[in-house]
Amino acid sequence: MPAARRIPAIEAILGACMVLVGSLVAQAQLAAPSDPPPLEDRDAFVAEMAARHGEDPGYAGRRFDLMQRLIQQAQLYGDGARAAMLLTGRHDFVLPGDRDAAYRDSPLSIGFGQTISAPHMVARMTSVLAVEPGHRVLEIGTGSGYQAAVLSHLTDQVYSIEIVEPLAERTAAAIAGMVEAGHPAFGGIQLGVGDGYHGWLEHAPFDRIIVTAAIDHIPPPLLQQLAPDGIMVIPVGPPSVQTLLEVRKRQEADGTITVERRDVYDGTARVRFVPFTRAPE
Ligand code: SAH
Repeated sequence: MPAARRIPAIEAILGACMVLVGSLVAQAQLAAPSDPPPLEDRDAFVAEMAARHGEDPGYAGRRFDLMQRLIQQAQLYGDGARAAMLLTGRHDFVLPGDRDAAYRDSPLSIGFGQTISAPHMVARMTSVLAVEPGHRVLEIGTGSGYQAAVLSHLTDQVYSIEIVEPLAERTAAAIAGMVEAGHPAFGGIQLGVGDGYHGWLEHAPFDRIIVTAAIDHIPPPLLQQLAPDGIMVIPVGPPSVQTLLEVRKRQEADGTITVERRDVYDGTARVRFVPFTRAPE
């Protein structure tokens, strides 16, 4: 019997109106969350990646080693985040000439003046978010799609918005190719093109929101679209340097909403993201 088919699509978000500008390849079946790989044993992990999607043992082994270092540095914690980072091949999301640099802990250019964040940043943000199966997650700043891909191993409801249209188109095509190549979890990613400042009202509320571009305030629409008991992680500050904030929205028994902010690095580190840009009103 054929499985239910779902067609992830890139959509242009123009205020309240949504225009389809392209579509990804249909995916046979959603598989979320992904089965965790071996977390402790390097050889078993490398063998499992080769068995699941024919992955080159060199990349899988270097990814395992990098994740061990990030765990020791307390940038990566929680079984879900650990599994998701291990399952996502960063070499598939960098420019072709940078594949051998993919498992160094540094940001890399992805064209269009944008970067793929450093692995420790993706690890830390994913760990803070603590995504659970069934959570609805919104990302602002798709970029290469790497962070969205990591999150797609934890829930089948990942929505991601990118403002640079040709980058969004390139990433959508790349993800479609990866779904075809044996990464079914990535088929649960919904991509939008537009200014993420306004969130994605049609799919709100979101249990988790992640902003991967620097902004000097928390966009009010994102706070509104965060579900009660939801968590947002966002770099807030001037273009030169930001504080990585964890924002929690709580609903008291009497219905009152409170918002708590916490510096993820407790004042020990600042972060530097590419600027959050705005579409003309
Ligand atoms: N999460 C990405 C990081 C990309 S860098 C990854 O894993 O590769 C941040 C991205 O945010 C850039 O691609 C930039 O174009 C995008 N961006 C900046 N302002 C935006 C906005 N207002 N809405 C949506 N995307 C935005």
